[in-house]
Amino acid sequence: MTEDAGALYDAIIIGTGFAGVYGLHRMREAGFRVIAVEAGDDVGGCWYWNRYPGLRCDVDSLEYAYAFSQELQDEWRWSERYAPQSEIHAYIKFAADRLELRPHIRFNTRIASALYDDVAQVWSLTSEAGDSFRARYIVMATGCLSIPNKPKIKGIENFEGRLVHSMQWPDEKLVLSDKNVAVIGTGSTGVQMIPLLAQEARHLTVVQRTPAFCVPARNQPWNDARIEYWRQNYRDLRTMARNTRAGVLHEYGMLPAAAVRPEDRIADLERRWVKGGPNVLYGFNDLLVNEETNKLVADFLRGKIAQAVNDPEIAKKLMPYEYPVGTKRVCVGTDYYETYNRDNVSLIDLRSEKLQQIEKDGIRTDDGFYPVDVLILATGYDAMTGALLAIDISTSAGKSLRNEWGRGPETYMGLGIAGFPNMFVVTGPGSPSVFSNMVLSVEHDMDWITECLTFLKERDWPTFEADPAAQAAWMDHVDDVARQTLVNKAASWYRGANVDGKPQKFMPYVGGVNTYQARCREVAESGYEGFLVGGRALQDGRERELADG
Ligand code: NAP
Repeated sequence: MTEDAGALYDAIIIGTGFAGVYGLHRMREAGFRVIAVEAGDDVGGCWYWNRYPGLRCDVDSLEYAYAFSQELQDEWRWSERYAPQSEIHAYIKFAADRLELRPHIRFNTRIASALYDDVAQVWSLTSEAGDSFRARYIVMATGCLSIPNKPKIKGIENFEGRLVHSMQWPDEKLVLSDKNVAVIGTGSTGVQMIPLLAQEARHLTVVQRTPAFCVPARNQPWNDARIEYWRQNYRDLRTMARNTRAGVLHEYGMLPAAAVRPEDRIADLERRWVKGGPNVLYGFNDLLVNEETNKLVADFLRGKIAQAVNDPEIAKKLMPYEYPVGTKRVCVGTDYYETYNRDNVSLIDLRSEKLQQIEKDGIRTDDGFYPVDVLILATGYDAMTGALLAIDISTSAGKSLRNEWGRGPETYMGLGIAGFPNMFVVTGPGSPSVFSNMVLSVEHDMDWITECLTFLKERDWPTFEADPAAQAAWMDHVDDVARQTLVNKAASWYRGANVDGKPQKFMPYVGGVNTYQARCREVAESGYEGFLVGGRALQDGRERELADG
């Protein structure tokens, strides 16, 4: 019998990516009896599972790092502006070791079900292998992008070559030098791997359903002065980042495009383009609310595609027209467009070349046959809800998350779900999550949850649950804010549009990290307005005795 079999933990965290590792540390420091369970055999979350060639982050490494510990900050040195996967994974492992967390993590434990007993007020988790765990509270740190999307493409089951999803890259090196390789998908993942695969493969065929806007990373090693500047000013810089809408220190333009002289608009876009990274998207403050501004920036980016690609026909195929720029995630790449100038690269643009089917040894379209030995699915994820719904989450009172979310996810502040007491979600739908610097957001959420747990423990563990009315109002607000922007004009994974049969609903909160975190603070300071504590609302910050009716 394992030590977990009879134990009742204060909290169990599911997942040990950036969120779970920090949450485990934070809750242990706060005195809770807490463990984490992890499907993989190491920490790292998406940085553990994803290992495809070219993977690196597209947020500056100095910002895509924990803020809570001066020691971690001082003892780690990021090598490059956009750190590669191996380095980010090493950093999370370093944090877990430095904070001595491994004894409190149950690895190789994929949770299959979570059942809340409304009478005993205890959650029971059961793993796929049949291990069970019990806790008063569970914290879903399962990640927004952790369940691969494997679309049912006609004939794919007949393919006899090697089929790989980007998230399930094999441990052994894939030797591609004598292979015809095809990649389906041109999102951030495809854009990162395509230039490297093209260098290695005998021939690379790219299958594009919707072109991406891609900006140049201009990745480079950090110099000592930059690192030192961050060391000296770390706290202030992180506070500044928290007060921005993306949680990242982009150079935010403060004016709408119309308020800038036309010649200055282009000059500023050029300057930002040369600087590299997503900065080119932040020149005007109305990119996502004004169609004209959006077109100005989109035209600028399409012009860059025309300059980079030698064949005008191919350049045209690579240009996105069907959605406003920024409403699908803009990719940050290196030599992405230039790769299409290579002799060993072909582009199948599904807008102009209809896919007939995948065959045992290649791809057949209306225009011809493309031989393929290795087929790579860079087709993304069942984002934001996939990992939560992969677990059968239910209560003895008869609620099932799969039923409750049948028409799309509903949360209060992304943190709680009505009907599911004592369960917290980290960067859930309805929070800025994937529209923010994820590391900054997971730290915020784990801090908020830990403070909430302290509040509850001091009151002898009353139940804690989102009020259905507050949840409905928050969801209306999330929708309203999204509707004031252009984000619903794209068939994006933010809306669930990439997964067959998934309800279409814009999931992240686009009101900004700054606004969201201020609202979370108000909620906590008011005595958790919008949450039911011990079954009732604690009003106006004046906590009533829980026992008195
Ligand atoms: P993605 O953005 O969802 O892109 C998937 C691609 O596959 C899209 O081009 C999509 O086309 C295509 N696709 C999906 N189903 C298809 C089908 N049935 N037939 C043909 N094409 C199909 O996924 P991703 O590239 O893995 O990126 C997901 C997110 O992960 C990113 O947006 C980003 O947030 C994160 N990410 C970050 C980094 C980084 O930090 N640098 C790297 C990788 C990923 P449609 O556009 O038409 O749906």
